[in-house]
Amino acid sequence: MKRRDFLKATLGGTAALVGAGNVEARPNLEPATEAVGMLYDSTLCVGCKACVSKCKEVNDMPPVIENGENAWDSARDLSGDTLNVIKVYRDGAAAVKDAEIDGFAFEKRSCMHCVDPGCVSVCPVTAMRRNPKTGIVTHHAEACIGCRTCMVSCPYNVPQFQYNELFGQIHKCQMCNQAGVERIDKGQMTGCAEVCPTGATLFGSRKLLLEEAKRRTALKPGDSYNYPRGDISKPESYHEKEVPTYKPHVWGEKEAGGTNVMHISSVAFDKLGMPPLGERSAASIAESVQHSVYSFMALPALALAGLTYVVRRNTNDEDEGGDA
Ligand code: SF4
Ligand code: SF4
Ligand code: SF4
Repeated sequence: MKRRDFLKATLGGTAALVGAGNVEARPNLEPATEAVGMLYDSTLCVGCKACVSKCKEVNDMPPVIENGENAWDSARDLSGDTLNVIKVYRDGAAAVKDAEIDGFAFEKRSCMHCVDPGCVSVCPVTAMRRNPKTGIVTHHAEACIGCRTCMVSCPYNVPQFQYNELFGQIHKCQMCNQAGVERIDKGQMTGCAEVCPTGATLFGSRKLLLEEAKRRTALKPGDSYNYPRGDISKPESYHEKEVPTYKPHVWGEKEAGGTNVMHISSVAFDKLGMPPLGERSAASIAESVQHSVYSFMALPALALAGLTYVVRRNTNDEDEGGDA
């Protein structure tokens, strides 16, 4: 093979590889075939924290006492011992529920069970997994190496490490379906939805929950609506209530590729502390960039092969000249 032919072949192959890497950006993943999730309606939440307590019972986690008074679980945020927490938005006099000005509102924080989860995409040992049928995202401690990359990749700051334990682990809401619990596989609903007295946390098929969320946000404020409790496909009960002024926005329908846990509210989501997110999932962007980078790595690899060829050829030429 002549040197010129080799270089031509090298450059041609590299251009093809780089081109392929540039154009093939992967799209967001679609919701799982039988995706389940939850709908949290902030306007129905009364801040009772029954869901927080039940979550601890299901996951066998201790109370977190943050105010020094040994009275009750007072966790203010997610941690290695708290997978679900209720937060409060307050403005001015904080006198009117669900009002942005001089009002207050509740907001639930737990894993959103992203449709295209960043934590699954970045985990180097597949300790984070997305169930292809239900879409539930679970962490598997037996496979985890504790690198904590999932913590950095989550837009909701959900995975938490047990820093106060000698052999700490990552913890997050598993939608009550981890090994040994498996409430969903057994046909039960999540613990938090089961105990919620108002239906503010509703469990069920993502498709039905999204339809319910859109129905509610389109209702006329002041009208009456029959709100279901428990599982959207077989509600345990209903209660009639005046319709609040919902924001025309279902959080989780599209954000970062969508989530299986969706929220609706009368207060804007940025005020409730939700992050600014586009519709493209971080996982799809990161994986497209990775593929491009790996394609580009072909260029230095081929250049190195070319240089090796030239050096060996010259060395052989010199050796042959010396022997003569
Ligand atoms: S909210 Fe965070 S931890 Fe939960 S699935 Fe999405 S990226 Fe993963
Ligand atoms: S689904 Fe289960 S683990 Fe997740 S917040 Fe609700 S009770 Fe806790
Ligand atoms: S149990 Fe329901 S009403 Fe009570 S804090 Fe949790 S989501 Fe809100």
